[in-house]
Amino acid sequence: MSTTKKDIRALTKEQLRDFFVDQGDKAFRGNQVYEWLWQKSAHSFEAMTNISKETRQMLEDNFVINHIRVDTMQRSADGTIKNAVQLHDGLIVESVLIPTKTRTTACVSSQVGCSLDCRFCATARLKRMRNLNPDEIYDQVVAIDNESRLYHNRPLSNIVFMGMGEPLMNYNNVLKAIDKITSDDGLGMSPKRIVVSTSGVPKMIKKMADDEVKFKLAVSLHSAIDEVRTTIMPFNETFPLADLREALEYWYTKTKNRITYEYVVWKDINDKRKDVDALVQFCKFAPSKVNLIEYNPIDDGEFQQANSEAIDMYKNILEANNITVTIRRSRGKDIDAACGQLANKS
Ligand code: SF4
Repeated sequence: MSTTKKDIRALTKEQLRDFFVDQGDKAFRGNQVYEWLWQKSAHSFEAMTNISKETRQMLEDNFVINHIRVDTMQRSADGTIKNAVQLHDGLIVESVLIPTKTRTTACVSSQVGCSLDCRFCATARLKRMRNLNPDEIYDQVVAIDNESRLYHNRPLSNIVFMGMGEPLMNYNNVLKAIDKITSDDGLGMSPKRIVVSTSGVPKMIKKMADDEVKFKLAVSLHSAIDEVRTTIMPFNETFPLADLREALEYWYTKTKNRITYEYVVWKDINDKRKDVDALVQFCKFAPSKVNLIEYNPIDDGEFQQANSEAIDMYKNILEANNITVTIRRSRGKDIDAACGQLANKS
């Protein structure tokens, strides 16, 4: 007879407490095991040293801990670290640690591959194989926090959901992972230090607003003109800018949190005055800021970084319209860890 053991980290704390009561033990034992699983990130029941040997064996007989494993770690000359992370079923995702003078940021994945098809993105070339579980997202953060302490002598300060996958297409699991990351039972991080970056799924942005989430929202916009955006991000045909704009207005009305637009300027694609004017108009619908991101070609060069005059034009016109703009230089280019490069050659 073969029985499949359950992933113990799929249980809530209450369910774990109930399990121990059903076994004739104390509910408190559930708290102890929960602490080992989340706060202490135990990889095995063996490691739970304040639990009796018999209880550890009983857990071993009933459950597994599907912990991720950092398969390979690459370190960039600029201090960026990229992890290729192996999941319990052998699939691989990537996560990145980005250190700057003032913060260390984890960029984590939410899906294996991606449901969407942004044409400038290496991940889009992998079909979506599955969503990550909450514990697989949480484990990426723990692994990066450990690396941050080890290589940069400081804990992780920020998290962005900007790795592989569209986080709003795995909304429930992303939310559960963030609950664990922010709860005192987990890492106790402030939700204000977490950014969920979406390519813009209007229905889910409204849902987030209704759920009164406390983390920040970023949208990969890249163009405020439908025809251009559809060329870059074909799903824009299904979720056009008018719907996105309406969802973002709803978000702001409900949360009062301003929106960050992630925006790459590509040569001959969106580097003209009309592109900037459209962005300025789009920014007027809800308080927002713009991150102009340096592009990292993923291969033969259909998408090329625009020249510095075009970037300056964006910056000057946005600022003249009182829109905050930041130019983000890419990090970790030498290890293909920069934006849009995950899954490129790994
Ligand atoms: S940019 Fe993000 S949403 Fe678009 S294909 Fe890549 S991983 Fe998916």
